[in-house]
Amino acid sequence: MTDTTFTTLGVAEPILRALAAENYTIPTPIQTKAIPALLSGRDLLGIAQTGTGKTAAFGIPLLQKLSIGHVPPRQREAKSLILAPTRELAVQIEQSLRTYGRFLNLKMAVILGGVSQHSQINATKNGVDILVATPGRLLDLVNQRQINLGNVSTFIVDEADRMLDMGFIRDVRKIVAMLPRDRQSMLFSATMPDDIVKLVGDMLKTPERIEVAPQGRTADRVTQTLYYVPTMQKRQLLMHLLKNEAMNRVIVFTRTKHGANKVAEHLLKNGVSSDAIHGNKSQNARQRALDMFRSGKIRALVATDIAARGIDIDDISHVVNFELPNEPESYVHRIGRTARAGAGGSAISFCDGSERAYLRDIERLTRLKIDVVAHDLPDLTPDQIKAQAETRPPHGHRHGNGGHGKPNGKPGGHNPHAPAKRNGSRPHWKRGGDKKRDAAA
Ligand code: AMP
Repeated sequence: MTDTTFTTLGVAEPILRALAAENYTIPTPIQTKAIPALLSGRDLLGIAQTGTGKTAAFGIPLLQKLSIGHVPPRQREAKSLILAPTRELAVQIEQSLRTYGRFLNLKMAVILGGVSQHSQINATKNGVDILVATPGRLLDLVNQRQINLGNVSTFIVDEADRMLDMGFIRDVRKIVAMLPRDRQSMLFSATMPDDIVKLVGDMLKTPERIEVAPQGRTADRVTQTLYYVPTMQKRQLLMHLLKNEAMNRVIVFTRTKHGANKVAEHLLKNGVSSDAIHGNKSQNARQRALDMFRSGKIRALVATDIAARGIDIDDISHVVNFELPNEPESYVHRIGRTARAGAGGSAISFCDGSERAYLRDIERLTRLKIDVVAHDLPDLTPDQIKAQAETRPPHGHRHGNGGHGKPNGKPGGHNPHAPAKRNGSRPHWKRGGDKKRDAAA
């Protein structure tokens, strides 16, 4: 039996050279199966999460197909199209394709929402071989006749289930309807809800089906542990854990944007370099935070689920679920940020009394009981209790009593999120300083 290499899979020399420079020596399972099928021209359904090497699985055959007998694209024309649900993922895909295709002379561009369209129109004006796009902005530009999809010969939808979650599936369908029927298509999704099965039926022709991680199974190489900890002590526990220097590149997940800001501020205040990414930050700020994290200039990135989708950063040592997600699939997705491409990784989850139901859902989906670790944190000091009470969300469902989520799981009793009445009687959301701080976050 001979070992599979990129050479035996039929990958062409200029791409082999680029892969060698990236130290990709052994193809991952999805690459082993997908590359020959795609090189033979078949459609593909890939059931796989990020972290499995799926970008190279579709990217390598795409680059190879476009480079053979390369005919330059015509004005405003895209010869191939990759749709991604988030801006971060789109940027990453393009970066990866530039890396694998660096010895080929192919033109690539990214189209995304949230930034000025001017430079994107310029980048595609003379046509591109590969266009990576988020659906909304792409449709805008097609409708403005700035981009022509009439000659797309290869079409790829990445993270289709995320497209669905984020409400983009109709845009995807509209785009599919604009493409030539004679094309090669691929769709990747970590899960296969009914709407995606339907899209697959409409979009792919007798596809090769490749499943690398069965639905709902968590990445096998991630060590998962759980701390039962009251909300009030979560920050303290996080700081305590971060004394471990092995936690050198950490993503901390929160459920809300506000929570992400608060945790990042707390880390900074306590000497841990960190930044937050979430949907309220500009695209530039998000990219800057990602770049700093990727290059190791900050140790912790605090993120909400939406902002973290598709983050592909190697060597993330730990994922901390500061708050458990209310959708169990997000847990699988979150912990998949670590242990990428054969590396090991750890996921540490904090669970307070109000999150037990989320934990049950997660364990049901993953069919795995997460190991519980006891902590022996000292009690909070009165100052810590006060400080924590002053950092409640500025808006939302917290007026009156009982409306909000009883963060320590105990009905009644002391409410750590009760309005802090510093300066006599004004609640903090009425104070100017707080407003300014929140607006700047
Ligand atoms: P993806 O699933 O495409 O997001 O890829 C996950 C990570 O694996 C990325 O950081 C890639 O750079 C890396 N990777 C992909 N294929 C290989 C390979 N054959 N050998 C080593 N690393 C790889």
